[in-house]
Amino acid sequence: MESSQSRYSTKLAALGWLEHAFLPAGMPPPDACAFAHQRHSAVAVDAEQAFPPKSVDADAVIGRGERAVAIYTADCLPVLIADNRHHQVAAVHAGLQGALAGVLFSAVEDLLSQGSRPEDLWVAIGPAISPCCYELGEDRLAAIQANPRLQQPVRWHRDRPLNPLAVRPQAAAQQQGIWFDLPQLGKQMLAQQGIPTAQIELLNVCTYCMAEPQSSYRYNSHHGSGYASRYAWIRRKS
Ligand SMILES: [Zn+2]
Repeated sequence: MESSQSRYSTKLAALGWLEHAFLPAGMPPPDACAFAHQRHSAVAVDAEQAFPPKSVDADAVIGRGERAVAIYTADCLPVLIADNRHHQVAAVHAGLQGALAGVLFSAVEDLLSQGSRPEDLWVAIGPAISPCCYELGEDRLAAIQANPRLQQPVRWHRDRPLNPLAVRPQAAAQQQGIWFDLPQLGKQMLAQQGIPTAQIELLNVCTYCMAEPQSSYRYNSHHGSGYASRYAWIRRKS
């Protein structure tokens, strides 16, 4: 079934020196892959610190060898980054809380500290809750926009955007809220650090209304359907 397959970034797949995948809900990550115990923090660690898996608390894992690095998500942004100059990679877990804490900044700063340049970085933002299904209280919008890391207004919608690609009903309004664009927030934060926007790919798959069943924490909280982690991983080829 198409909807239970792994998803790939065309931009990352075009870089011949790496492998990556956004796995469907419930599929385990590759053997010997490094991932941390995630805390919605801005902490980035090296792959060897995050192996065995969950041996450290962090939300970004940097790979400089051949060991695959991964993160797991439900509705948060799974972000995979490849440094096409030095062949470093990063897997970043960035929900709204982690993004505002600065995890996309610390991951990129870690890569730059090892000689990368922003124009060398290629990024894929995988399936995540999207503005078609991500309602927030309007009071939270002001708090988000006040985040000192943000140089531009964030993107949001007054009315729920129709998603013509939805395969199940979009989230129903639960409050007089706004519909927040989390993938765009991630892209905005990456672009702010100098990464060319043409090198940042959004897969544009909403976990709530488009991805395979059990992908969305929020869908589960509305419908009691259960959910399972979705792993995204990346590694330098040997
Ligand atoms: Zn949706």
